[in-house]
Amino acid sequence: MGSSTKYIFITGGVTSSLGKGIIAASLGRLLQARGFSVTIQKFDPYLNIDPGTLNPYEHGECYVTDDGAETDLDLGHYERFLNVTTSQSNNVTTGRIYNNVITKERKGEFLGKTVQVIPHITDEIKANFYKLGEDGKYDVVITEIGGCVGDIESLPFIEAVRQARWDLGPNNFLVIHLTLIPYLSAAKELKTKPTQHSVKQLLEAGIQPDILVCRTEHHLPQDVKKKLALFCNVQLNSVIEAMDAETIYDVPLLMKKEKLDERVMSKLKLTSKSNTDLEHWKDFLGRLKNPTQEVTIGLIGKYVSLPDSYKSIIESFTHAGAAVECKVHLKLISSEEIHNDNIEAKLSELDGILVAPGFGERGFEGKIETVRYARENKIPFFGICLGMQVAVIEFARNVMGLASANSTEMDPATAYPVIGLMEEQKKIDQMGGTMRLGSYACDLKKGSKAAQAYGKTKIHERHRHRYEFNNDYLEQVEEAGLLATGKNPDTGLVEIVELKNHPWFVGVQFHPEYKSTALNPQPLFVKFIQAAIDVKKVK
Ligand code: GLN
Repeated sequence: MGSSTKYIFITGGVTSSLGKGIIAASLGRLLQARGFSVTIQKFDPYLNIDPGTLNPYEHGECYVTDDGAETDLDLGHYERFLNVTTSQSNNVTTGRIYNNVITKERKGEFLGKTVQVIPHITDEIKANFYKLGEDGKYDVVITEIGGCVGDIESLPFIEAVRQARWDLGPNNFLVIHLTLIPYLSAAKELKTKPTQHSVKQLLEAGIQPDILVCRTEHHLPQDVKKKLALFCNVQLNSVIEAMDAETIYDVPLLMKKEKLDERVMSKLKLTSKSNTDLEHWKDFLGRLKNPTQEVTIGLIGKYVSLPDSYKSIIESFTHAGAAVECKVHLKLISSEEIHNDNIEAKLSELDGILVAPGFGERGFEGKIETVRYARENKIPFFGICLGMQVAVIEFARNVMGLASANSTEMDPATAYPVIGLMEEQKKIDQMGGTMRLGSYACDLKKGSKAAQAYGKTKIHERHRHRYEFNNDYLEQVEEAGLLATGKNPDTGLVEIVELKNHPWFVGVQFHPEYKSTALNPQPLFVKFIQAAIDVKKVK
């Protein structure tokens, strides 16, 4: 551990989904505004090595970092709020911890000892807690502990937090407990009991929280705060109210008003290095809340019943919409429900169409119909990953006349595999961590829509897919009018396609949404919204 690095642990109580990730990210943002370098990591109690093999319905989107880690979607919030990149080390699961310990045991590294949860598993957890702080790059490392206090599966993490206090010393260690203060409308009362119980559970585990952050739908009166302070053994000014916010991007300012950053700094004996007062953040919020125009965009995918499956795409529209002062009404539409005979009713209101990333055959033909509709009706179109592959297949089928064209993912025996597996991928038989993952270079064709958007011709974007554009068809496809305007400079793989004679039709093999942040909106999303605005004007 870095000798001067401060460690903040955030636990959750009463229920899940209280927004620990947003609180962590907001606190990180506030500390950054005070001049500190900050990173945030998440420890997840489940046994999967990483969320890469999880269905999006389980925990929402799988977020991908530059170094190709498949991670929890909270890392997306960290990057979007802090504008700094995260890595494999920022997301650790119980599965990874056990895997590391068992691998060491097989190598004989425990020298004949009995390997146990305490100390071996907790030592491994602690080593991972401290890893990002080791090279002195960060003044503050915030660690979010997934799940709820009292869950059987998070016990070793909580025990490791208890031990960490003694490794780190009192001025370098802090626990924030995020909890819910429910409001009983019949009694017109805010109830503190669930919080008292969850703090009691923490105390039983040997952890005294330093700060309570209380999620609530109503302001906490002073007497409720006093009660919480008394029963939970925290200072009165360390009971912080976290009211429901209009947008998650309000939370840093709300937390500043509640002096969360000041409480943290005073407990950790930190003094501000600078004070930027969050001017850029306020600018962004101002633009977000005062749009001068609006568009309706359809997001067509198969996981639409759980919007968290498309978290980064949804947030990218927030960032890019604010950049052009445009309110984006995003309609999530299930591709399974789109057919040739109802497509007009489903899509005619839209000013722009995005076909989302995805896997497998379910809802695939609805996506093909959607692309056809956008292409023929000259509606701005943005295809991401599978969305780009669908654009290529639709074009091959309906423009080039290759009626059975497909991806070998959907039809391994297709006569026209315009999307297929690369040789390296054909040999792979394990699912986890084996896709083309992480950041790759891409060279853009001068004058293309993509180059106009980025304002340069060399970019890097993150990937998460197995299948690729099949370069055997490149010449034919380009001749027919779908241009490859972005290519990987090392492998020649097609990363971007654009349709000629269309207002804005761009498909990208990578995931631009992973790099969009509040203060750095992703250029393709910005131009896509702009194209939707322009087309709407002449409608
Ligand atoms: N299923 C496609 C592939 O593996 C696309 C993946 C995605 O959209 N992320 O190549």
